[in-house]
Amino acid sequence: MKWFKMRELVEAVTSVIKGPYTHPFPAEPTPLPDWIRGKPTYYADDCIGCGACATVCPVRAIDVREVVREDGVPVRLLELHFDNCVFCGDCVRRCATQKGIRFSDEYELSGFDRKEMIESVEKELVPCEICKTSIAPRDQLQWIYDELGSMAYANVSVYLTAQERLGLREGVPRDDRPLDRTDSQRILCPSCRRSVTLLDEWGPIQP
Ligand code: SF4
Ligand code: SF4
Repeated sequence: MKWFKMRELVEAVTSVIKGPYTHPFPAEPTPLPDWIRGKPTYYADDCIGCGACATVCPVRAIDVREVVREDGVPVRLLELHFDNCVFCGDCVRRCATQKGIRFSDEYELSGFDRKEMIESVEKELVPCEICKTSIAPRDQLQWIYDELGSMAYANVSVYLTAQERLGLREGVPRDDRPLDRTDSQRILCPSCRRSVTLLDEWGPIQP
């Protein structure tokens, strides 16, 4: 018992000389380790809008919606509700590009309005050149092209989207004429691609 008291006395004297062990937060910012899991943050330049992060999120903290922006451009909108996030890191680990979403060192996330607790990114969608249905984010199609290399030429929509990025192609407006073989060289949704591909074999099929 006597030794316990002595140890406490030594610690008390040490604290008086050295100062408290605890950090004076919030008066001073807390030093953070490199591996801190703060608010997951999207990096628009590295995100392709594929939505894989939303698929793997175990608490469904990430919503994926397709909306039309004020300027009339259709976009895929990803909204991460960090008030529901459990900081498991699955979205960061499973990100298709490995850098589209990363943990920040932002950890003071409390607030009064949960509607403001949203981290978001939006990506322009590529429409089908016949039926105008959104196919996928432009960045995602171009990323697929980069990943596949020469194999990307097996998918017309993917390589045509990549050609647009290089300035080698501009989308040509299409009138209401019936489908024909020239439509095969267009950016198409799966349904219209099927109709155009089967045109020769089965005759006209409405998309
Ligand atoms: S860290 Fe986990 S819980 Fe939070 S958004 Fe990513 S996957 Fe969902
Ligand atoms: S690129 Fe990464 S962050 Fe962007 S939508 Fe896909 S998985 Fe999510």
